[in-house]
Amino acid sequence: MLYSLAFITGRRRGSAAQLTQPRDATALPCWAARATLAGPPAAGPVAAHGPAILTWLAAATLSAMATDVIPPFADDAFRRVLCVVAHPDDVEYGVSSAVAAWTARGVEVAYLLLTRGEAGMDSSPPERTAPLRTEEQIAGSQAVGVAEVEFLDHPDGVLEYSLGLRRDIARVIRRRKPDAVVAGSWDVEVVIGLNQADHRVAGLAAVDALRDAANRWVFPELLDEGLEPHSVRWLLVGGDPRPTHGVDVTGEPVERGIASLEAHAQYLAGIPGHPPPRPMITGITRLQGRAMGVPNAVLFRAWDFHAPPPIAAEALAAAQDG
Ligand SMILES: [Zn+2]
Repeated sequence: MLYSLAFITGRRRGSAAQLTQPRDATALPCWAARATLAGPPAAGPVAAHGPAILTWLAAATLSAMATDVIPPFADDAFRRVLCVVAHPDDVEYGVSSAVAAWTARGVEVAYLLLTRGEAGMDSSPPERTAPLRTEEQIAGSQAVGVAEVEFLDHPDGVLEYSLGLRRDIARVIRRRKPDAVVAGSWDVEVVIGLNQADHRVAGLAAVDALRDAANRWVFPELLDEGLEPHSVRWLLVGGDPRPTHGVDVTGEPVERGIASLEAHAQYLAGIPGHPPPRPMITGITRLQGRAMGVPNAVLFRAWDFHAPPPIAAEALAAAQDG
């Protein structure tokens, strides 16, 4: 990719409308698409391509006021991607359209579901819901060219952040050897409101497992299983209010993304007032497209784990200033 990614070296600030993908809740739906206002870019470690922060959200009106355009990933950015999410359908609110774009050009994408979403349908007991949502997730994955879907069978609704969960994710990372992991936000507050408990756990556990997978001395039992350390270069977070990169999903990818959400038909039918997938995904990707200057897009914040943080270069430069 990674290597040809055009890094942005200067601090850029602008404002742009962005809408991120909503995620399902288990007992209560949290699908509603909504934008929010975000403050100035936060300090801290950022992707190597820039002091991260390219965007403030002027999303109250969702009008495009971009003074900076979110750049695309390089065409050869990823060869193998692993998406780690808590529930069936978490990938399908936008991210799956990006997945469709990736798989169309030969990128290998696999999904890792930490649960089967068995607590997600009020009118259906978990033992009936689990196989239904499993089947719908597999159909939704196939719609965007993903054939590899794994379920860890951790409990839905009460997913716990634990060393065991980190180890289970790290195991899959070592086995699949992705060069990019896609995860959701672990923040308490996200653009659609307050983040669901399982989503927070899944995001944080994925980040930590990404590092665990690269450390020989963490979870040595994985070595006993024949799984050598693997260092993932990129973490891509969907729904982050400070996107650094986007994927143009105009045309076929967004069509396939719509189909992937439509695959969750029985689940969605149980959520009163859920909009039809077509206008929902069209709208979500159209709003994000404004930040890229294309009709439809999906935005990510990208973190490069193989590069020093930009602050390191700034510190060295400051030291040379005398
Ligand atoms: Zn969910």
